[in-house]
Amino acid sequence: MYSVLNENIQFIKGIGPKKAEKLELLGIKTIKDSLYYFPRQFEDRSKIKKIIQLEDGEKITVKGVIKKIGYFAKSKKVRIVTVEIKDETGSLKLIFFNKDYIRNSYRVGDIINVFGIVKVNKNGLKEMQNCEIEYVDNKKKKTGIMVPVYSLTAGITNKDIQGIVRTIFDDKNIFIREYMPKWIVDKYRLCDINYAIRNIHFPKSKEALKVAIYRIIFEELLILQLGLFLYKGGKQDKKGIVFKKESFLCKGENCVDLKKIEGELPFSLTKAQKKALDDILFDMESDKVMNRLVQGDVGSGKTVVAQIALANSVLNGYQGAYMAPTEILAKQHYMSFKKLFDKYNIKIASLTGSTKKNDAKEILQKLKEGQIDIIIGTHALLEDRVEFNNLGLVITDEQHRFGVRQRAKLSNKGKSADIIVMTATPIPRTLALILYGDLDISVINELPPGRKPIETIAVQKKKREYMYKNFIDKELKNGRQVYVVCPLVEESEKLDVISVEQLFEEMKYKFFENVEIGLLHGKMKPKEKDEVMRRFKNNEIKILVSTTVIEVGVDVSNATLMVIENAERFGLAQLHQLRGRVGRGEYQSTCILIYDSNTEVCKKRMQIMQENNDGFIISEKDLEIRGPGEFFGTRQHGIPELKLANLFKHGKILKDAQKEARFIYSSDVELKKVENKELKKIIDETFKDQLREISLN
Ligand code: ADP
Ligand code: MG
Repeated sequence: MYSVLNENIQFIKGIGPKKAEKLELLGIKTIKDSLYYFPRQFEDRSKIKKIIQLEDGEKITVKGVIKKIGYFAKSKKVRIVTVEIKDETGSLKLIFFNKDYIRNSYRVGDIINVFGIVKVNKNGLKEMQNCEIEYVDNKKKKTGIMVPVYSLTAGITNKDIQGIVRTIFDDKNIFIREYMPKWIVDKYRLCDINYAIRNIHFPKSKEALKVAIYRIIFEELLILQLGLFLYKGGKQDKKGIVFKKESFLCKGENCVDLKKIEGELPFSLTKAQKKALDDILFDMESDKVMNRLVQGDVGSGKTVVAQIALANSVLNGYQGAYMAPTEILAKQHYMSFKKLFDKYNIKIASLTGSTKKNDAKEILQKLKEGQIDIIIGTHALLEDRVEFNNLGLVITDEQHRFGVRQRAKLSNKGKSADIIVMTATPIPRTLALILYGDLDISVINELPPGRKPIETIAVQKKKREYMYKNFIDKELKNGRQVYVVCPLVEESEKLDVISVEQLFEEMKYKFFENVEIGLLHGKMKPKEKDEVMRRFKNNEIKILVSTTVIEVGVDVSNATLMVIENAERFGLAQLHQLRGRVGRGEYQSTCILIYDSNTEVCKKRMQIMQENNDGFIISEKDLEIRGPGEFFGTRQHGIPELKLANLFKHGKILKDAQKEARFIYSSDVELKKVENKELKKIIDETFKDQLREISLN
């Protein structure tokens, strides 16, 4: 359907190919994009004061009549226009430098508005320099109003964007068709979309702006939630397996139940682990399919919870599957599962991309026949050739690495298998509720006792060598091991980022010639990675230089120092994850963040890392200091950007929007009803990037 809204922005007078290119950097390609490119903030020029009230230093609008216009050239380069204006309370002198046109545009007797900074000089005379000036009845107002301030890029000024939006409103007769269902508009007294857009750019009043913003926030949240329901699936009650908590598994004389397994663990579960496990066992016992997210900070002990849940599946005569995000982790879990379960005669196997062909064949056969109880693997488990005898429980670890589709693909290998998703990515509850609208959530918000908090030290890059020499040396002398992490794999000239290979060379030949150093990055073959990890675990490698492949789950308790290069390039959640690789044993551990940036935001972020050890608090603080437009680092979580809505601030609106999204979704799962058709279009458009990603999976 043709709509002027979809026209290229070059359609606007004054926007040529060059400007269009710049605008595209801001995400503005079409007329519509520009309308939805909202101001970052407003400069309030709406307040008008009488001249007598003016105070030194204030930024304000004044209305007056021109009494005198003067002009003189101070030098060839500096020419000055002076304008004296008056209102019924006093007079104000305006001074303009090199703005000759003012002299030609205004006449004595004209009534004008000016906006600028007031200066009261020694004699009590009031002045304004280089202020905004316009006729009171000027159509494209720049004084006496709230002036929008936009985020910009080089080559695009605030006036450009204001001009575009003005042109669209004043010269083109644009009209956006209302896409919110009428009953929602009525129920929440939302203003019309055209009114909202116009007043968000050029508010008639503060009240109008408020009304407009409310409408946009509401729709953003509704669209977000509804879109997630549509594309990720909302909660559905499917009939599931009823697992009995009291089940026994007997091989000969030897009987085991959950109590016994729990009792024989080398530690007792923390309160939080027990609570999560209770949630899980309760769900497993119910006749509905479990869809549960277990969220727990690094080191909070999610694995053992998974192990007991899987044991429950096996005791009930069903198989279990555990999917890890990396080969290294799959191996590590395989070992720890075997250690725990061998003695109970529970059969464990592992399947990854590097499992030998013949071994894989045997494993697949046994899995299908039910001779394997628990299989642990990577996404190799998703392949079609993997078949189960009777899959009862599926656990995927660190789920942000896997798409939703993949999660479903694995569980569909069973008839109505229960699902647990584990994640160490600490996200605030509000965001979790939105993102995982289809999951119930358990939180493990407590670390096992006796952990020594990791000490974190953030330093500027110039202190790098000093830190290397002092901290790394000390740990090595004490027999400990060290991780050094950096962001990129290959040398990149554009970014001044230390690449992992370069760093490895530097460590080896410059800093630590006689120390065994290992290198680990995502582009290595699985076998090579395994070998490096094995040697690090065995304390053969003392310093492991790596990219973020070690981010999740790797467990080497003798490693006590984590050095992170270019820490400014990582998200705080990720830094926290990385840091979680140390502090896993009895020794005091340290994390050194080396950053190369002078911005306030960077310093604040480093400070947050130094002062906090709780992933949830870190993620909330991180979100707090993010600038507008990136409130939630939403992209990081694979959801569309929110322009005005803030999941923290707008909790009440969020609740309403979620309620209505749930209602709409449950009564019209594909949004096919006439009243939802326009809304569906907007949702598709909003989620187009996400949809592309899903279809790639
Ligand atoms: P994560 O939640 O990061 O996956 P893990 O499951 O790897 O954490 O557990 C981290 C370490 O803590 C492991 O070495 C594990 O054996 C240990 N652990 C787990 N639960 C407890 C507990 N209740 N008491 C003591 N140590 C525990
Ligand atoms: Mg883990």
